Amino acid sequence: MDRFIKLERQYCARNYHPLPVVLHKGEGVWLWDVEGKRYLDMMSAYSAVSFGHSHPRLVAALTEQARLLAIPSRAFYSDRLGPFLEKLCTTVGMPKALPMNTGAEAVETAIKAARKWGYKVKGVPAGQAEVVVCKGNFAGRTTTIVGFSSEAQYRDGFGPFASGFVTVPFGDAAALEAAITPHTVAFLVEPIQGEGGIVVPPAGYLAACRDICSRHDVLLICDEVQTGLGRTGRLLASDHDGIKPDGLVLGKALGGGLLPVSAFLARQDVMNVFNPGDHGSTFGGNPLASAVGQAALELLEEERLSERASEMGERLLQGLRALRHPAIRDVRGRGLLIGLELDPAMLPARVFCERLMAAGVLSKETHDTVVRFAPPLIIGPQEVDFALATIAVTLDAGTVRVPAAADHMIV
Ligand SMILES: *Cc1c(COP(=O)(O)O)cnc(C)c1O
Repeated sequence: MDRFIKLERQYCARNYHPLPVVLHKGEGVWLWDVEGKRYLDMMSAYSAVSFGHSHPRLVAALTEQARLLAIPSRAFYSDRLGPFLEKLCTTVGMPKALPMNTGAEAVETAIKAARKWGYKVKGVPAGQAEVVVCKGNFAGRTTTIVGFSSEAQYRDGFGPFASGFVTVPFGDAAALEAAITPHTVAFLVEPIQGEGGIVVPPAGYLAACRDICSRHDVLLICDEVQTGLGRTGRLLASDHDGIKPDGLVLGKALGGGLLPVSAFLARQDVMNVFNPGDHGSTFGGNPLASAVGQAALELLEEERLSERASEMGERLLQGLRALRHPAIRDVRGRGLLIGLELDPAMLPARVFCERLMAAGVLSKETHDTVVRFAPPLIIGPQEVDFALATIAVTLDAGTVRVPAAADHMIV
């Protein structure tokens, strides 16, 4: 264990602060470390592993396609991209998609589309486009994106930043309307702020934003990289408000937990602003990504994972709310995207995550005070109950109780 941690510390940039566990293998909702100890994954790689680790159908799609054709580039057509995007567009009800790899790239794509739409369609004067974003947002780590972050650390030392972004409080539709000018092209928003601390806006917020954007001819762009594809108990988190955005950003789970696959989807008149050569990606939409992405979307439907996320999420949320421990400040979330906010004076989130790890449950804090619980959507009731029992014991004891070794060893 120590050897791998030492090697990573010596050769890898210190841009993360991992929990001290060295993972070796994953299957379904379970992970194993190099010593054979088993852990319940309550984190799913920041929601990227919705289908569980090494799902046999996704692994089969990946390996079969890898043997056939992986990366021909988009200089040519492939027999995988069209069928994948047809499935994606019909699943989420959008006419067109632009495939990328990571979430940040798809957000960048959304910003480029919105600006160009503003100039070519809405008639905003050249160089004047404004995009409204929310305080507490997270949309990735590129220089443009961290430039509109409200998190000091994400920005510190990385300027100068791109202009053209205006920040409003999250959950305040009146503030959005007040921030809109004739130069506003888009409002970029997460239906639930994930990295920001699992922040759920007031009921009706997104519907009000939809109305405001329509009235002012501003594109409503939902960043559902984390909340999309069943995570919150509906296919899209925006479905809870019964609204349809003009642009949609998907990523994370779209790659089936095997590859980075992302996409920006939009209205026809928005996507039509792109001409050949305007934008691109060497790897975006490659056959490997397309095969896995399509299989992931099929699986999501066939295994009714949105419904499962809703049921299991309710079980987890109720269970956490029933804990009533003095260190708990708040329990919030939707579906299987749940945050447990702790009083850092009593129990810092990082310490709690380290204790949970020792007890066989893996999660990670976001913002010193919030522990995220976002397991694979395939999680079952017994596993939810195991997580709840482990969380309860870890909270109550205040000290670490490591369950009997036999429960956690592969034999
Ligand atoms: C994770 C995330 C991103 C960025 O995705 P990467 O693949 O890490 O670039 C963008 N938006 C949201 C809401 C996210 O949670």
